[in-house]
Order: sequence, then C-alpha cells, then structure tokens
Amino acid sequence: MKFCSSCGAGVALRVPPGDNRQRFVCTACGEIHYQNPKLVTGCIPEWEDAVLLCRRAIEPRYGLWTLPAGFMENEESAQQGAIRETLEEANARVQVEQLYTTFNLPHISQVYLLFRGRLTNLDFSPGEESLEVALFREQEIPWDELAFPVIYETLKFYFQDRKQGVFLPRVGDIHWRSRELGKYSVSMLET
Ligand code: ZN
Repeated sequence: MKFCSSCGAGVALRVPPGDNRQRFVCTACGEIHYQNPKLVTGCIPEWEDAVLLCRRAIEPRYGLWTLPAGFMENEESAQQGAIRETLEEANARVQVEQLYTTFNLPHISQVYLLFRGRLTNLDFSPGEESLEVALFREQEIPWDELAFPVIYETLKFYFQDRKQGVFLPRVGDIHWRSRELGKYSVSMLET
C-alpha cells in the first residue's frame, strides 16, 4: 500500500498507539489502514459417489482442477458465497449441507471454508473461469493435477470419510515450506 484511500496522501508503516504491530498509517490525515485475512468460500458439489471439479481457465494454476471456490463478497454469508461460486464457475446449483473443511493459510493470509453441497440436478457447464467441469469418482480424481494443496487435502479427507459414512468437520493449517507446490505441511486440530 502506498497511498491513503481516504485522502490520497502517502502512507507509512507505523505502530499506532495502543497497537502491537505495524499498520499503514496516513501521513496526512492519520487514517489507519488495517489489512486482515481474506475468506475464501467454496463447495464440494456431490452427486451420488462423485464430486464436481472445475478445470481452471485462469491463473494461477491454469489448466489444473479445483473445487468451485473464491473470495467472499461483502454482504453475503459464507454459504451464499459457496453457492454463488459454484454457479459462476460450473453453472451448477447446490444445496449446502455442511461446513466440511476450514483451512488456515497463514503464509498468504487466507482462510478457506469448504462446504459439502448436494447438486440439485446434472445441469452444469463451464463458467467463465473454467475450461471444463466434470464429475469424478474417487478413483477418477486427477490427484496429480489438482490446483492447490487445500483442494488436495480436502478431497483426501472427503473420500476417507465417505468410506466411514461419517463426514467430520475438519479444521487445519497448511504451512508452505517453499513456493514450489508439494513443499507444504499440514497440521489438523484434533477433534
Ligand atoms: Zn489520509
């Protein structure tokens, strides 16, 4: 951040009185610009023993498969966001059933909320941000072509739980060890 969004003057990194970390503070009007993590909300669209995946038509991870998910918009709930993203990316309609995985990604200051959602019908097609969308059973999942660790980990738990017939809500952290994909570690909250 370089300029104040209130008055347009320059900002400087300072610890405001009573605070304990640096913030962008306007050098003219004194406005403190707080920057906080972003929420990403998404869905595991289910149909019988398969889930719907989207192949990304955008960077990053162009051409790789993902679950429909994206940044929450103002004035919507996380569930509404998951439904909206599923409609935008896959032209698919879901009924949200459960908050399934919550993953913290502290290195990029994001929190993922992924819901289980039942497809209401088989009417789906690629949205603007998808090259193709398709249903995958466990043995058909393109494990080596998934876009993000958070998707890989969620699907891994999902099919594990499906075998038990009980979907436990799961909360965990994904920590990057290097920018290279694959170099990350996962720690789950014991439940
Ligand atoms: Zn200002």
